[in-house]
Amino acid sequence: MADQLPDPAGYAATSYWLETAGDDLTPRPALRGEIDADVAILGAGYTGLWTAYELLRRDPSLKVVFLEREIAGFGASGRNGGWVASGLNASSGRLARRFGQAGMTAIEDAVAGAVDAVGVAIAREGIDADYAKGGSLTVARGPEQLPALEEHWQSLERSGRAAHYQRLDAAGTAERIRIEGALGSVYGSQYAVVHPGKLVRGLARAVERHGGLIYEQTAVTDVEAGALPHLRPALRTEGGRVRAGAVVLAGEAYLTQLRPLHRSLLPLYSLIVLTEPVSDGDWATIGWQAREVLASYRLSVDYLSRTADGRILFGGRGAPYRFGSRIEPAFDRDARTHGLLREFVEAWFPSLRGIGFGHTWGGPLGMPRDWIPTFSFDRRSGIGSGRGYTGHGVSTANLAGRVLAGLILGDENELTALPLVNHRSPNWEPEPFRWIGVRFTQESLLRLDARTARTGRPPTGRSLAERIADH
Ligand SMILES: Cc1cc2nc3c(=O)[nH]c(=O)nc-3n(C[C@H](O)[C@H](O)[C@H](O)COP(=O)(O)OP(=O)(O)OC[C@H]3O[C@@H](n4cnc5c(N)ncnc54)[C@H](O)[C@@H]3O)c2cc1C
Repeated sequence: MADQLPDPAGYAATSYWLETAGDDLTPRPALRGEIDADVAILGAGYTGLWTAYELLRRDPSLKVVFLEREIAGFGASGRNGGWVASGLNASSGRLARRFGQAGMTAIEDAVAGAVDAVGVAIAREGIDADYAKGGSLTVARGPEQLPALEEHWQSLERSGRAAHYQRLDAAGTAERIRIEGALGSVYGSQYAVVHPGKLVRGLARAVERHGGLIYEQTAVTDVEAGALPHLRPALRTEGGRVRAGAVVLAGEAYLTQLRPLHRSLLPLYSLIVLTEPVSDGDWATIGWQAREVLASYRLSVDYLSRTADGRILFGGRGAPYRFGSRIEPAFDRDARTHGLLREFVEAWFPSLRGIGFGHTWGGPLGMPRDWIPTFSFDRRSGIGSGRGYTGHGVSTANLAGRVLAGLILGDENELTALPLVNHRSPNWEPEPFRWIGVRFTQESLLRLDARTARTGRPPTGRSLAERIADH
């Protein structure tokens, strides 16, 4: 819990999204003393906010209280790439092996449904978050990526989802977006893009309108399990405590800073560069009119989006994992990774050579050992959690909110029956094995990507790093 609190005036510097959210970022009052609530939530990001929103919509009489260490949206929810993804970051094959074909289908339908659910809820609440359902394009940039495209397509056919996707050749891809070196792509119709900052800050305001209470600059230092029905669980802070009928741990990557959850996730840094506004002439060259979210088949992950105000966001993993799962503001920026991302923008879109990058940032996302997220609620201890989205949390956290509200209220439905409910991921290895394994894999994937791009020969899939990273 040793993170330094940034100066409140500095919250706008966390990301372009918080800077342009159009909201007053002055922290709300902190909790002092002891209070009672029906539901107490650690963390005011999408998971906590969607959970509160659903609880309050179903039962407006509930007292729902947030304890947020910084401000609403300070975490990944105020920093992400804006993808509202219609899938988890675990493959259909992995889900089918773990939960059977029917379980995989139920999960994938539910996550795809969350893309629309986000759009519907923000329209209902009048949150203008630049939401656009423009689809996704996953591009093979070079011959070395064509086998991965082929495998992606076959996996969509095997899982029965191909009807929502289209396979495009180089010309079909260029009709949508003109990307240097693109030989083909898979277009998916069920993806959307959003302004993450407007979404998270607007959602926090909506929760307050529905009666939720948000305490900011209030760090939870301890979670007290209950023994219901006699002893209720609680969230403890330096200066106070909330005792509640149910507690929700919605801190994603930061949950690793709570001792009992230290190895439940890996805080993996994802970093972003954002261009200055692209000129109309360059947009005419590039296309990209539908604001599709965009990625390639690189092993070390890239993701792009086009902002509503005409900038290109380019994000990627690869920033080094820090020994002991450390999370610090200084890790939000990494010169090597940000430099590489800037080079990628120019390599993908050569007409943008020399464009300025006014904003760079990053943050930790929560990665479970088996890549599969968890929505959980234990009736006896009164503790619930939604976590482990591995970079696909914008839609999945909305689903988590609806699932957790159902579990807490005892309102059984098809979502509370999803196999992700009470799923237990194995813990990560203790240090130094965790650091050695993760750093080896990160560096090997970066090297493999560089080599395959240079030679045009695809990765074999048999290297140790590829087998470790397979998901
Ligand atoms: C750079 C980046 C890019 C990403 N891009 C995408 C994308 O394009 N699409 C996508 O779907 N997903 C993406 N993700 C992942 C997605 O943003 C997250 O999965 C999602 O926002 C998680 O929401 P959350 O509410 O669970 O956690 P968070 O948004 O991280 O919120 C957790 C909150 O808990 C607070 N907190 C932590 N510890 C404590 C404590 N002890 N006491 C009180 N409060 C505490 C934090 O301050 C924070 O506000 C990205 C993540 C990152 C970092």
